[in-house]
Amino acid sequence: MAALVQVAVTGASGYIALHVITALLDQGYAVRGTLRDMARGEKIRAALARQTDVSALSFVEADLLADAGWDTALADCQYVMHVASPLPILEPKDHDDLIIPARDGALRVLAAAARAGVRRVVMTSSIAAIGNGHAGKSRFTEADWSIVSEEIGAYACSKTIAERAAWDFIAGLPKGDAPELVVLNPSFVIGPLIDPDGSASLEVVRKLLAREVPGCAKIGFSLVDVRDVAVAHLAAMTTPDAAGKRYICSTGFKKMSDIAALLNQTFGPQGHPVRTRELPNWVVRIVALFDPAVGRIVPELGRQKYYDNSAIRKDLKWRSRPLDGTIIATGESLIELGVVK
Ligand code: NDP
Repeated sequence: MAALVQVAVTGASGYIALHVITALLDQGYAVRGTLRDMARGEKIRAALARQTDVSALSFVEADLLADAGWDTALADCQYVMHVASPLPILEPKDHDDLIIPARDGALRVLAAAARAGVRRVVMTSSIAAIGNGHAGKSRFTEADWSIVSEEIGAYACSKTIAERAAWDFIAGLPKGDAPELVVLNPSFVIGPLIDPDGSASLEVVRKLLAREVPGCAKIGFSLVDVRDVAVAHLAAMTTPDAAGKRYICSTGFKKMSDIAALLNQTFGPQGHPVRTRELPNWVVRIVALFDPAVGRIVPELGRQKYYDNSAIRKDLKWRSRPLDGTIIATGESLIELGVVK
Protein backbone atom coordinates (compact mmCIF):
# COMPACT_ATOMS: atom_id res chain seq x y z
CA MET A 1 0.00 0.00 0.00
CA ALA A 2 1.30 3.52 -0.84
CA ALA A 3 2.37 5.61 2.16
CA LEU A 4 -0.12 8.30 3.13
CA VAL A 5 0.75 11.91 2.32
CA GLN A 6 1.96 13.54 5.55
CA VAL A 7 0.62 16.95 6.56
CA ALA A 8 1.75 18.95 9.61
CA VAL A 9 -0.84 21.09 11.41
CA THR A 10 0.54 23.64 13.88
CA GLY A 11 -1.42 24.33 17.07
CA ALA A 12 -3.38 21.06 16.94
CA SER A 13 -5.25 21.94 20.15
CA GLY A 14 -6.99 24.93 18.55
CA TYR A 15 -10.63 25.33 17.53
CA ILE A 16 -9.98 25.76 13.78
CA ALA A 17 -7.04 23.32 13.72
CA LEU A 18 -9.23 20.51 15.10
CA HIS A 19 -11.61 20.96 12.16
CA VAL A 20 -8.71 21.12 9.70
CA ILE A 21 -7.25 17.91 11.18
CA THR A 22 -10.64 16.17 10.96
CA ALA A 23 -11.02 17.18 7.30
CA LEU A 24 -7.47 15.99 6.49
CA LEU A 25 -7.95 12.61 8.23
CA ASP A 26 -11.33 12.20 6.50
CA GLN A 27 -9.60 12.76 3.16
CA GLY A 28 -6.98 10.07 3.86
CA TYR A 29 -3.98 12.20 4.82
CA ALA A 30 -1.65 11.38 7.71
CA VAL A 31 -1.54 14.29 10.18
CA ARG A 32 1.23 15.35 12.52
CA GLY A 33 -0.13 17.97 14.90
CA THR A 34 2.11 20.21 16.97
CA LEU A 35 1.29 20.89 20.61
CA ARG A 36 3.13 23.09 23.04
CA ASP A 37 1.89 20.88 25.87
CA MET A 38 2.03 17.16 25.06
CA ALA A 39 0.01 16.40 28.21
CA ARG A 40 -3.07 17.54 26.23
CA GLY A 41 -2.48 14.98 23.48
CA GLU A 42 -4.73 12.20 24.80
CA LYS A 43 -7.70 14.50 25.40
CA ILE A 44 -7.33 15.98 21.91
CA ARG A 45 -6.99 12.55 20.32
CA ALA A 46 -10.15 11.41 22.15
CA ALA A 47 -12.08 14.50 20.94
CA LEU A 48 -10.96 13.87 17.33
CA ALA A 49 -11.76 10.15 17.64
CA ARG A 50 -15.42 11.15 18.12
CA GLN A 51 -15.26 12.75 14.64
CA THR A 52 -13.10 10.45 12.52
CA ASP A 53 -10.53 7.62 12.39
CA VAL A 54 -7.41 8.88 14.19
CA SER A 55 -5.04 6.02 13.40
CA ALA A 56 -2.98 8.28 11.07
CA LEU A 57 -2.67 11.07 13.68
CA SER A 58 0.47 11.80 15.68
CA PHE A 59 1.69 14.71 17.81
CA VAL A 60 5.04 16.46 18.23
CA GLU A 61 5.91 19.09 20.85
CA ALA A 62 6.77 22.54 19.47
CA ASP A 63 6.28 26.09 20.72
CA LEU A 64 6.14 29.13 18.44
CA LEU A 65 8.57 30.82 20.82
CA ALA A 66 11.34 28.19 20.54
CA ASP A 67 13.29 26.36 17.81
CA ALA A 68 13.00 22.91 19.38
CA GLY A 69 10.67 20.43 17.73
CA TRP A 70 9.94 22.13 14.42
CA ASP A 71 12.35 20.04 12.32
CA THR A 72 10.92 16.84 13.81
CA ALA A 73 7.37 18.08 13.31
CA LEU A 74 7.85 18.91 9.63
CA ALA A 75 10.14 16.01 8.59
CA ASP A 76 8.73 14.13 5.55
CA CYS A 77 5.72 16.46 5.30
CA GLN A 78 4.52 17.48 1.84
CA TYR A 79 2.27 20.15 3.28
CA VAL A 80 2.04 22.33 6.39
CA MET A 81 -1.08 24.00 7.71
CA HIS A 82 0.30 26.80 9.88
CA VAL A 83 -2.74 27.56 12.03
CA ALA A 84 -1.19 28.31 15.46
CA SER A 85 -1.12 31.90 16.70
CA PRO A 86 -2.28 33.40 19.99
CA LEU A 87 -5.89 34.62 20.02
CA PRO A 88 -6.71 35.62 23.61
CA ILE A 89 -10.16 36.81 24.73
CA LEU A 90 -8.60 39.93 26.24
CA GLU A 91 -5.92 41.97 24.52
CA PRO A 92 -2.60 41.98 26.43
CA LYS A 93 -1.19 45.35 27.54
CA ASP A 94 2.08 44.60 25.75
CA HIS A 95 1.48 44.06 22.02
CA ASP A 96 4.68 42.01 21.83
CA ASP A 97 2.96 39.24 23.81
CA LEU A 98 1.06 38.47 20.58
CA ILE A 99 3.34 39.90 17.90
CA ILE A 100 6.44 37.91 18.87
CA PRO A 101 4.86 34.42 18.87
CA ALA A 102 2.80 35.21 15.74
CA ARG A 103 5.68 36.63 13.68
CA ASP A 104 8.65 34.63 15.00
CA GLY A 105 6.53 31.46 15.11
CA ALA A 106 5.53 31.87 11.45
CA LEU A 107 9.18 32.41 10.51
CA ARG A 108 10.27 29.32 12.48
CA VAL A 109 7.62 27.22 10.74
CA LEU A 110 8.54 28.53 7.27
CA ALA A 111 12.27 28.05 7.84
CA ALA A 112 11.69 24.48 9.05
CA ALA A 113 9.40 23.89 6.04
CA ALA A 114 12.14 25.06 3.67
CA ARG A 115 14.71 22.79 5.40
CA ALA A 116 12.32 19.82 5.18
CA GLY A 117 11.56 20.38 1.49
CA VAL A 118 7.84 20.95 2.16
CA ARG A 119 5.94 21.59 -1.07
CA ARG A 120 3.37 24.09 0.24
CA VAL A 121 2.52 25.94 3.45
CA VAL A 122 -1.02 27.19 4.05
CA MET A 123 -0.98 29.93 6.67
CA THR A 124 -4.07 30.98 8.62
CA SER A 125 -3.98 34.76 8.69
CA SER A 126 -7.14 36.82 9.25
CA ILE A 127 -9.24 39.69 7.98
CA ALA A 128 -7.57 41.43 10.93
CA ALA A 129 -4.56 41.67 8.57
CA ILE A 130 -6.74 43.35 5.92
CA GLY A 131 -9.44 45.68 7.21
CA ASN A 132 -8.14 47.36 10.39
CA GLY A 133 -6.97 50.94 10.70
CA HIS A 134 -8.73 52.28 7.58
CA ALA A 135 -10.93 55.11 8.82
CA GLY A 136 -14.07 55.46 6.72
CA LYS A 137 -13.32 52.59 4.32
CA SER A 138 -15.87 49.80 4.30
CA ARG A 139 -15.11 47.45 1.37
CA PHE A 140 -12.05 45.25 1.39
CA THR A 141 -10.31 42.83 -0.95
CA GLU A 142 -7.08 40.85 -0.78
CA ALA A 143 -5.26 43.96 -2.07
CA ASP A 144 -5.86 45.69 1.28
CA TRP A 145 -3.61 45.49 4.33
CA SER A 146 -4.39 46.66 7.86
CA ILE A 147 -2.49 49.76 8.90
CA VAL A 148 -0.42 48.79 11.91
CA SER A 149 -0.72 51.18 14.87
CA GLU A 150 -1.48 51.07 18.60
CA GLU A 151 -5.16 51.74 17.83
CA ILE A 152 -5.87 48.57 15.88
CA GLY A 153 -4.92 46.47 18.90
CA ALA A 154 -2.39 43.76 19.60
CA TYR A 155 -4.18 40.96 17.77
CA ALA A 156 -4.63 42.79 14.45
CA CYS A 157 -1.01 44.00 14.68
CA SER A 158 0.18 40.44 15.30
CA LYS A 159 -1.71 39.01 12.32
CA THR A 160 -0.65 41.79 9.94
CA ILE A 161 3.01 41.73 10.97
CA ALA A 162 3.17 37.91 10.90
CA GLU A 163 1.59 37.65 7.46
CA ARG A 164 3.83 40.33 5.97
CA ALA A 165 6.89 38.65 7.51
CA ALA A 166 5.82 35.32 6.00
CA TRP A 167 5.50 36.73 2.47
CA ASP A 168 8.84 38.58 2.82
CA PHE A 169 10.57 35.43 4.07
CA ILE A 170 9.34 33.31 1.14
CA ALA A 171 10.26 36.06 -1.35
CA GLY A 172 13.79 36.14 0.10
CA LEU A 173 14.51 32.41 -0.34
CA PRO A 174 16.35 31.11 -3.42
CA LYS A 175 13.66 29.96 -5.87
CA GLY A 176 14.24 26.20 -5.69
CA ASP A 177 14.38 26.21 -1.85
CA ALA A 178 11.13 28.04 -1.17
CA PRO A 179 7.95 26.20 -0.26
CA GLU A 180 4.87 27.63 -1.94
CA LEU A 181 2.82 29.84 0.36
CA VAL A 182 -0.96 30.27 0.33
CA VAL A 183 -2.59 32.50 2.96
CA LEU A 184 -6.20 32.33 4.13
CA ASN A 185 -7.78 35.38 5.75
CA PRO A 186 -10.90 34.16 7.56
CA SER A 187 -13.38 36.55 9.11
CA PHE A 188 -14.93 35.85 12.54
CA VAL A 189 -15.11 32.03 12.82
CA ILE A 190 -18.02 30.32 14.54
CA GLY A 191 -19.67 26.90 14.27
CA PRO A 192 -19.58 23.63 16.17
CA LEU A 193 -16.77 22.82 18.59
CA ILE A 194 -14.82 19.55 18.56
CA ASP A 195 -13.39 20.18 22.02
CA PRO A 196 -15.04 22.34 24.73
CA ASP A 197 -11.94 24.60 24.88
CA GLY A 198 -13.21 26.85 22.09
CA SER A 199 -11.78 29.98 20.54
CA ALA A 200 -12.20 33.59 21.59
CA SER A 201 -14.37 34.03 18.48
CA LEU A 202 -17.14 31.95 20.11
CA GLU A 203 -17.41 34.43 22.96
CA VAL A 204 -20.17 36.50 21.35
CA VAL A 205 -22.53 33.53 20.95
CA ARG A 206 -21.50 32.11 24.34
CA LYS A 207 -22.04 35.38 26.18
CA LEU A 208 -25.43 35.92 24.52
CA LEU A 209 -26.62 32.40 25.42
CA ALA A 210 -25.22 32.65 28.96
CA ARG A 211 -26.96 36.05 29.37
CA GLU A 212 -23.64 37.64 30.33
CA VAL A 213 -24.44 40.76 28.27
CA PRO A 214 -27.23 43.24 29.04
CA GLY A 215 -28.19 43.56 25.35
CA CYS A 216 -26.68 44.01 21.92
CA ALA A 217 -24.28 46.74 20.92
CA LYS A 218 -24.98 48.27 17.51
CA ILE A 219 -22.20 46.29 15.89
CA GLY A 220 -21.99 43.31 13.59
CA PHE A 221 -19.54 40.71 12.44
CA SER A 222 -18.33 39.26 9.17
CA LEU A 223 -18.76 35.57 9.87
CA VAL A 224 -17.72 32.22 8.45
CA ASP A 225 -18.44 28.63 9.50
CA VAL A 226 -15.46 26.74 10.95
CA ARG A 227 -16.30 23.70 8.77
CA ASP A 228 -16.11 25.91 5.67
CA VAL A 229 -12.79 27.32 6.89
CA ALA A 230 -11.46 23.75 7.13
CA VAL A 231 -12.62 23.02 3.57
CA ALA A 232 -10.87 26.21 2.44
CA HIS A 233 -7.60 25.03 4.04
CA LEU A 234 -7.70 21.78 2.07
CA ALA A 235 -8.55 23.58 -1.17
CA ALA A 236 -5.72 26.07 -0.53
CA MET A 237 -3.38 23.11 -0.02
CA THR A 238 -4.26 21.27 -3.23
CA THR A 239 -5.23 23.92 -5.81
CA PRO A 240 -2.12 24.43 -7.97
CA ASP A 241 -2.88 28.03 -9.00
CA ALA A 242 -3.41 29.19 -5.42
CA ALA A 243 0.37 29.39 -4.82
CA GLY A 244 1.50 32.88 -3.87
CA LYS A 245 -2.02 34.20 -3.15
CA ARG A 246 -4.00 35.33 -0.13
CA TYR A 247 -7.72 34.63 0.10
CA ILE A 248 -10.44 36.28 2.16
CA CYS A 249 -12.56 33.46 3.63
CA SER A 250 -15.83 35.02 4.77
CA THR A 251 -19.50 34.26 4.18
CA GLY A 252 -21.21 37.51 5.13
CA PHE A 253 -22.13 40.12 7.72
CA LYS A 254 -24.62 39.74 10.60
CA LYS A 255 -25.72 42.33 13.13
CA MET A 256 -25.28 41.30 16.76
CA SER A 257 -29.01 41.89 17.38
CA ASP A 258 -29.91 39.53 14.50
CA ILE A 259 -27.64 36.84 15.95
CA ALA A 260 -29.31 37.34 19.34
CA ALA A 261 -32.82 37.16 17.85
CA LEU A 262 -32.06 33.89 16.07
CA LEU A 263 -30.54 32.39 19.22
CA ASN A 264 -33.51 33.53 21.28
CA GLN A 265 -36.00 32.10 18.81
CA THR A 266 -34.16 28.75 18.71
CA PHE A 267 -32.93 28.28 22.26
CA GLY A 268 -35.38 30.45 24.26
CA PRO A 269 -38.02 27.68 24.29
CA GLN A 270 -35.31 25.26 25.52
CA GLY A 271 -34.59 27.35 28.63
CA HIS A 272 -31.94 29.65 27.14
CA PRO A 273 -33.66 33.01 26.55
CA VAL A 274 -31.34 35.59 24.97
CA ARG A 275 -31.42 39.38 25.43
CA THR A 276 -32.14 40.88 22.02
CA ARG A 277 -32.63 44.60 22.65
CA GLU A 278 -30.14 47.00 21.10
CA LEU A 279 -28.18 49.18 23.52
CA PRO A 280 -27.73 52.86 22.67
CA ASN A 281 -24.16 53.69 21.66
CA TRP A 282 -23.72 56.05 24.65
CA VAL A 283 -24.38 53.16 27.07
CA VAL A 284 -21.74 51.02 25.35
CA ARG A 285 -19.25 53.93 25.49
CA ILE A 286 -19.80 54.37 29.23
CA VAL A 287 -19.40 50.63 29.91
CA ALA A 288 -16.22 50.74 27.80
CA LEU A 289 -14.66 53.16 30.29
CA PHE A 290 -14.56 50.33 32.85
CA ASP A 291 -14.39 47.21 30.71
CA PRO A 292 -11.50 46.87 28.22
CA ALA A 293 -13.29 44.04 26.36
CA VAL A 294 -16.14 46.45 25.58
CA GLY A 295 -13.61 49.17 24.76
CA ARG A 296 -12.42 47.07 21.81
CA ILE A 297 -15.82 47.27 20.09
CA VAL A 298 -16.33 51.02 20.45
CA PRO A 299 -14.59 51.85 17.13
CA GLU A 300 -16.90 49.36 15.41
CA LEU A 301 -20.17 50.93 16.64
CA GLY A 302 -22.47 51.58 13.69
CA ARG A 303 -19.86 50.39 11.17
CA GLN A 304 -20.34 47.67 8.60
CA LYS A 305 -17.40 46.22 6.68
CA TYR A 306 -17.70 44.08 3.53
CA TYR A 307 -15.02 41.52 2.78
CA ASP A 308 -15.11 40.42 -0.87
CA ASN A 309 -15.05 36.62 -1.15
CA SER A 310 -15.12 36.43 -4.94
CA ALA A 311 -11.47 35.32 -5.29
CA ILE A 312 -11.82 32.27 -3.04
CA ARG A 313 -15.10 31.36 -4.71
CA LYS A 314 -13.53 31.56 -8.16
CA ASP A 315 -10.05 30.11 -7.60
CA LEU A 316 -10.73 27.54 -4.87
CA LYS A 317 -14.35 26.80 -5.92
CA TRP A 318 -15.22 27.55 -2.29
CA ARG A 319 -18.88 27.62 -1.29
CA SER A 320 -20.09 28.31 2.23
CA ARG A 321 -23.19 27.30 4.10
CA PRO A 322 -25.88 29.80 5.19
CA LEU A 323 -24.98 31.64 8.38
CA ASP A 324 -28.27 31.03 10.20
CA GLY A 325 -27.51 27.30 10.32
CA THR A 326 -23.99 28.07 11.54
CA ILE A 327 -25.27 30.29 14.36
CA ILE A 328 -27.72 27.60 15.50
CA ALA A 329 -25.05 24.88 15.25
CA THR A 330 -22.75 27.02 17.42
CA GLY A 331 -25.42 27.36 20.10
CA GLU A 332 -26.26 23.64 20.00
CA SER A 333 -22.61 22.72 20.34
CA LEU A 334 -21.97 25.14 23.24
CA ILE A 335 -24.97 23.69 25.10
CA GLU A 336 -24.21 20.02 24.26
CA LEU A 337 -20.59 20.31 25.42
CA GLY A 338 -21.64 22.04 28.64
CA VAL A 339 -19.88 25.32 27.83
CA VAL A 340 -23.24 27.04 28.32
CA LYS A 341 -25.16 25.50 31.22
P1 NDP B 1 -7.49 28.97 19.26
O1 NDP B 1 -7.19 29.87 20.40
O2 NDP B 1 -8.49 27.89 19.46
O3 NDP B 1 -6.14 28.31 18.72
C1 NDP B 1 -4.91 28.95 18.78
C2 NDP B 1 -3.84 27.89 18.67
O4 NDP B 1 -2.56 28.53 18.66
C3 NDP B 1 -3.86 26.92 19.85
O5 NDP B 1 -3.58 25.62 19.39
C4 NDP B 1 -2.71 27.43 20.71
O6 NDP B 1 -2.12 26.45 21.52
C5 NDP B 1 -1.74 27.87 19.61
N1 NDP B 1 -0.72 28.72 20.17
C6 NDP B 1 -0.84 29.93 20.74
N2 NDP B 1 0.35 30.37 21.16
C7 NDP B 1 1.25 29.40 20.86
C8 NDP B 1 2.64 29.23 21.05
N3 NDP B 1 3.39 30.16 21.66
N4 NDP B 1 3.24 28.10 20.61
C9 NDP B 1 2.51 27.13 20.00
N5 NDP B 1 1.18 27.21 19.80
C10 NDP B 1 0.57 28.34 20.23
O7 NDP B 1 -7.91 29.92 18.06
P2 NDP B 1 -8.52 29.61 16.62
O8 NDP B 1 -8.54 28.17 16.35
O9 NDP B 1 -9.75 30.39 16.49
O10 NDP B 1 -7.43 30.32 15.72
C11 NDP B 1 -6.52 29.59 14.92
C12 NDP B 1 -5.88 30.51 13.93
O11 NDP B 1 -6.88 31.11 13.12
C13 NDP B 1 -5.07 31.67 14.51
O12 NDP B 1 -3.96 31.89 13.70
C14 NDP B 1 -6.04 32.83 14.43
O13 NDP B 1 -5.38 34.06 14.39
C15 NDP B 1 -6.72 32.52 13.11
N6 NDP B 1 -8.02 33.14 12.94
C16 NDP B 1 -9.03 32.88 13.82
C17 NDP B 1 -10.27 33.49 13.64
C18 NDP B 1 -11.42 33.25 14.56
O14 NDP B 1 -12.41 33.98 14.46
N7 NDP B 1 -11.36 32.25 15.46
C19 NDP B 1 -10.50 34.41 12.52
C20 NDP B 1 -9.38 34.58 11.64
C21 NDP B 1 -8.19 33.96 11.84
P3 NDP B 1 -2.59 26.21 23.06
O15 NDP B 1 -3.85 25.39 22.96
O16 NDP B 1 -1.46 25.48 23.66
O17 NDP B 1 -2.82 27.56 23.67
